[in-house]
Amino acid sequence: MQSLKYLYRIGQGPSSSHTMGPIAAAERFLKVAPEADFIKVILYGSLAKTGKGHMTDLAIMQVLGEDKCEIAFDYDSPTNVHPNTLDFIAYRGGEEIERKRYFSIGGGEVLAEGEEKREHPDVYPLKSFTEIAKYCEEKDIRIWQYVEECEGKEIWNYLAEVWQVMLGAVARGVAAEGVLHGGLGTQRKAKVLRRQGHVDESEETKMNRLICAYAFAVSEENASGGIIATAPTCGACGVMPAVLKYLQHKRKFSDEKILQALATGGIIGNLIKTNASISGAECGCQAEIGTACAMAAAAAAELYGLNLDEIEYAAEMSIEHHLGLTCDPVCGLVQIPCIERNAIAAMRALNAVNLANFLADSRKISFDTIVETMYETGKDLKVMYRETAEGGLAKKYKG
Ligand code: SF4
Repeated sequence: MQSLKYLYRIGQGPSSSHTMGPIAAAERFLKVAPEADFIKVILYGSLAKTGKGHMTDLAIMQVLGEDKCEIAFDYDSPTNVHPNTLDFIAYRGGEEIERKRYFSIGGGEVLAEGEEKREHPDVYPLKSFTEIAKYCEEKDIRIWQYVEECEGKEIWNYLAEVWQVMLGAVARGVAAEGVLHGGLGTQRKAKVLRRQGHVDESEETKMNRLICAYAFAVSEENASGGIIATAPTCGACGVMPAVLKYLQHKRKFSDEKILQALATGGIIGNLIKTNASISGAECGCQAEIGTACAMAAAAAAELYGLNLDEIEYAAEMSIEHHLGLTCDPVCGLVQIPCIERNAIAAMRALNAVNLANFLADSRKISFDTIVETMYETGKDLKVMYRETAEGGLAKKYKG
């Protein structure tokens, strides 16, 4: 398994493949053609079809300069190599001087045409939860200590940066108001959720409202093109910060403890990424929100000091009860159902931890089995339910 640095990525929402990747491509092309006075960009395939909704054009313009580029959408040309293809053509004095094709291959990574896929080196020798749990048990260490062993102490600096980005997104999100970009008229709700308690609000209702406020805050920041940390993706980036921010607020956990929880949740996300998928386009929303819920449940279980069995059960349950969840974003925007879904998954993660605490001794299904099941279920989902915005809610509701 690769480093957690490739799971928790810091960048601009709302999509690692539709904003982070194209931004990286634009930055690379600027280095190839620094003398260009004008650049034409052509988006193909999925980048053309859902690029407006994902703000791909705005993200590229931010890098190249609004008055120095033109973005064209080619809906018809085939994309035989990869559905996320984009061309950059540089001009100087009206003459073409350079041209390059890039592919946004997911997770914010890009490849130039003809370039080999660079696999990041494996830093974790163990690839299943069963193996990791056995190792931790034998050495009498917690999962975050295994992370430190494999990644080195410098991982804490990286996770500290991730945590600051998460907190920043929460802070900006709960302060923002207005309507999100994209034409659906989606109102930002985090600020209202944070402030507007009922007069005789119970502790439980308050808890749910605050968790939802934090999840909405980060997801709305993502939807508006703000800086977020993928956990494990842009669309599902609100779950982890919501749970961790709430628990830190309520239980006063130190930043050090929060980083350890991020490491434990990261192992869960990494196992799913390695043995199945965290991509909505590949396995539906169960792979994104289901994974985020499992990561948050494991992180919360770590904060509460639960044992390996209970951590596994909390993460397993979180995936089990998201099985089959489709990806059907209305108008291709990461707003409906995505934003609410982050909030529901955050609440569900805490429920899973509570149940795991009581029932771990009677559980039947292992984490590794549920990951395998999720992957198979995802492969069985019709394409219309895998981030094509052609089925489900995306078909029934057009806004
Ligand atoms: S519905 Fe699709 S786009 Fe939205 S969070 Fe789920 S997987 Fe991501």
